[in-house]
Amino acid sequence: MNPEEIIRGLTGAQADRGACVVCGRDYLRASGVVSLVVGRSLTGSQVFACAGRCGQVAGADPMMARRRVGGDGR
Ligand SMILES: [Zn+2]
Repeated sequence: MNPEEIIRGLTGAQADRGACVVCGRDYLRASGVVSLVVGRSLTGSQVFACAGRCGQVAGADPMMARRRVGGDGR
């Protein structure tokens, strides 16, 4: 995914970097969560998803995540 891609339909917290755009996890309350940039909100803020499954669902840039060996080309 292009990290500059605009993601629509986010909640206020999601659009303001405060929550995962996939599962809605509240990053302001959760500590020790690794999150990945997955795009931008309509306001231009970067938005995030949790590393791992959420990042995969959101199509997080693999260069910002763990490298995958023998990737499937996404
Ligand atoms: Zn998440």
